[in-house]
Amino acid sequence: MAERWAASSGRYEGGRFRRCGRSGLMLPAISLGLWQNFGGFDAHETGRAVLRRAFDRGVTHFDLANNYGPPPGSAEENFGRVMATDLHRYRDELIISTKAGYTMWPGPYGDKGSRKYLLASLDQSLRRMGLDYVDIFYSHRPDPDTPMEETMGALDQAVRSGRALYAGISNYGPEQTRQAARILRELGTPCLIHQPRYSMLDRTAEGGLLDVLGEEGIGGIVFSPLAQGMLSAKYLDGVPAGSRATRATTSLTPERLTPAVVQRLRSLNDIAQARGQSLAQMALSWVLRDPRITSALIGARNVAQLDDSLDALNAPPLSDEDLQSIQQHLPPAGAAV
Ligand code: NDP
Repeated sequence: MAERWAASSGRYEGGRFRRCGRSGLMLPAISLGLWQNFGGFDAHETGRAVLRRAFDRGVTHFDLANNYGPPPGSAEENFGRVMATDLHRYRDELIISTKAGYTMWPGPYGDKGSRKYLLASLDQSLRRMGLDYVDIFYSHRPDPDTPMEETMGALDQAVRSGRALYAGISNYGPEQTRQAARILRELGTPCLIHQPRYSMLDRTAEGGLLDVLGEEGIGGIVFSPLAQGMLSAKYLDGVPAGSRATRATTSLTPERLTPAVVQRLRSLNDIAQARGQSLAQMALSWVLRDPRITSALIGARNVAQLDDSLDALNAPPLSDEDLQSIQQHLPPAGAAV
């Protein structure tokens, strides 16, 4: 019989945890998302090794959604397999999130923001992952055709029924976030966390959202902090085989790597090298410079990438001088390239 896997006993040594808004929940400064690389078309053992390594290095938070794969649902299924084989006995050390909001099944009840969709989807996610509850359940995107009270009411119900411990929102704008936070507060289930896109190449969240998060006491967990891998050295000399830009499963296409973008990346890479770190590491240090950001939510295709990204936590913080040099190569606050 195969030997039972045990996590490293040193997994919390040097761990960096940050408080999620004004809640009682601490999250790791770097969390791991399963949007890509953990689906039915990916090698299960590679994903399993990444998950084990992440937990061994103090990453206690894994982020999923109903539609992650591809194909949709397969990331939750694969995560459920790793829970069953390796991680189940650490359940109380893990923060596992899922979401509903994008198209998941045919017909009017498999998409957007109705109570019907959110609660049915959450039950499906729990079955796929083999879990009794998730730690965080998100509305994945705002739905202008559903009253905000209904969508937030479904999150509140998810928590009250014991299927989730906390409620979160993703991709909501600043005013929508204020409204959602008010409704959830009135329902007695405060909004724990917001998941926006944010990186050195996409500073949209600085156009008001981060201020709202600070004022409302909501934690920020930012997705695609490496701009899907653009903020690494891999695209400096063309598009390498196997990289996300070649796979056509996301919005990252080779056309986005214009000469102007590559020039920015080269300049940023020079600054990172002068600091003695990789560009990916500097990109993570940069998003984490803001205390309103609880966690940087990364993806990783293999253990080497995960290790490289987690080593960002060993680097010295960015000095004012570093920040000024970096700033010259970024879009303005509130804008994206
Ligand atoms: P990243 O910006 O971290 O991009 C990850 C990709 O970058 C990897 O798959 C890999 O791509 C490359 N990469 C990662 N680390 C390194 C490294 N150290 N050196 C070189 N290349 C590296 O994040 P994602 O876009 O993957 O998003 C992360 C998570 O955020 C998702 O899994 C999901 O949980 C969440 N998310 C949420 C969304 C929402 O709407 N709420 C939307 C999108 C993401 P390659 O294959 O090219 O090597």
